[in-house]
Amino acid sequence: MDFKSYIRDVPDFPKQGILFKDITPLLQDYKALTSAADALIENLKKGSIDKVVGMESRGFIFGPMLADRLEAGFVPVRKPGKLPYKTLRETYDLEYAKDTLEIHVDGISKGDRVLIHDDVLATGGTALATTKLVEKLGAIIVQCNFLVELSFLNGREKIKPLEVKSLITY
Ligand code: IMP
Repeated sequence: MDFKSYIRDVPDFPKQGILFKDITPLLQDYKALTSAADALIENLKKGSIDKVVGMESRGFIFGPMLADRLEAGFVPVRKPGKLPYKTLRETYDLEYAKDTLEIHVDGISKGDRVLIHDDVLATGGTALATTKLVEKLGAIIVQCNFLVELSFLNGREKIKPLEVKSLITY
């Protein structure tokens, strides 16, 4: 399936000068939605993953779909102050600021085999912070996968040597 044809470019969103990759046309189409979820896990066997970790907020769309297909649990990684129980935090650099992500301390058990998923891999800052959280809890990261990879931003380099898979590359 030509997944790229379901991604819409929105200029100057969320601010001037940014060309935003909008995945909602793909989500709106059942065949594209279900085929994309199948394709994201095509090289992973059912039972080979204990937890799918998805990042706020668009990692919460495919994350549970992949978890269901893999018969795994789903663990959310969220912006600060959103998770109700005890959390582990990781702060990372943005272009002009800092951001923080949190995970529940009991979300991952030592030795869990984890798939990390987000909609878009851009600079890799979000993905790197998430890998640190998951590794601190003692998990084994099997793969990081993304619907869209903006390869010119070199996010893949940042999370080396982890296995990275993306369905659509720009
Ligand atoms: P990074 O930390 O620079 O890799 O940015 C990745 C995060 O920003 C992901 O959580 C994405 O949801 C979001 N993001 C960055 N660029 C885009 C885009 O063009 N479309 C949708 N989400 C984006």
